[in-house]
Amino acid sequence: MTELRKVLANGEQVLIFLNRRGFAPTLICHGCGWVARCRHCDANMVIHNYENLLRCHHCGQEQRLLADCPACKTSELMPLGLGTERIEEALRELFPDKALVRLDRDTTQRKGSLERYLTQINRGETDIILGTQMLAKGHHFPNVTLVAIVDVDSGLFSIDYHATERLAQMIIQVSGRAGRAEKPGKVILQTRHPDHKLLNTLIREGYRRFADTALAERKEALLPPFSYQALLRAQAGNPNLPLGFLQTAAALAKTYKAGQTQILGPVPAPMEKRAGLYRYQLLFQSNKRSDLQKCLTELITNIDSITHTKKIRWSLDVDPVDLF
Ligand SMILES: [Zn+2]
Ligand SMILES: [Zn+2]
Repeated sequence: MTELRKVLANGEQVLIFLNRRGFAPTLICHGCGWVARCRHCDANMVIHNYENLLRCHHCGQEQRLLADCPACKTSELMPLGLGTERIEEALRELFPDKALVRLDRDTTQRKGSLERYLTQINRGETDIILGTQMLAKGHHFPNVTLVAIVDVDSGLFSIDYHATERLAQMIIQVSGRAGRAEKPGKVILQTRHPDHKLLNTLIREGYRRFADTALAERKEALLPPFSYQALLRAQAGNPNLPLGFLQTAAALAKTYKAGQTQILGPVPAPMEKRAGLYRYQLLFQSNKRSDLQKCLTELITNIDSITHTKKIRWSLDVDPVDLF
């Protein structure tokens, strides 16, 4: 906050980055612990205060914001966590005389609005720029001398090993938005884990060293690029259908002589239910690409022999960039 005040007093711009839109990611009842969940997804409804809505960011389901808890009927519903709308509200209270622009999917839906905001920023008519990953790419703000990245922790502890890599790239990208030769920028990260090893390598030794460390960890765990992966995904309204389909596919693939190819699963996708569909996946992993290729080619040729109804949708993702 001290840094923020200093920069604003100098007439320079600050950029505040949070990759979560809406007011808060969770609506919880302090009376009974009830949480607003989406009916169609394994996900919480996100509070959108401006529109007075709860919205699911995975399927688009919406409902009016509730005043009372549907479970215990008390009025102890509270927002939990931070979204860009909530930070905007706090910043406007703290700095009522500063001009603030919020850039996220909710504020830039209208055609031309993003360009209009960017022009305002570049003319110096904006003091505080607040936004989501939309800010990370492409735009350069030469008068920004302070970048604050709020809550980087979700990227540090994801079950998907790609998440740390994406977080590091995002930090580098966002940091790159700030400063120019005569006005160097400063970057502040908010975390509950200031001792995190990869985070410290990134900050103290740079992206190159971070990448080396991350690669060493992957080599240890035999993860790509030290092995090759493919993900067979299947989904349907009835969970037994994709599960059965993948079980048969796994049994079939195991009969192929495909070297060291491992077949792992099927397991539920990290978000098992999404938009009313149940999602399962089967992971293929091999340290020889040719073995993996052989296994997949044979499976695809025979996959139609697996009895399945048209109710299943399946897809095969070779070298998946995420495991969701
Ligand atoms: Zn309640
Ligand atoms: Zn949903």
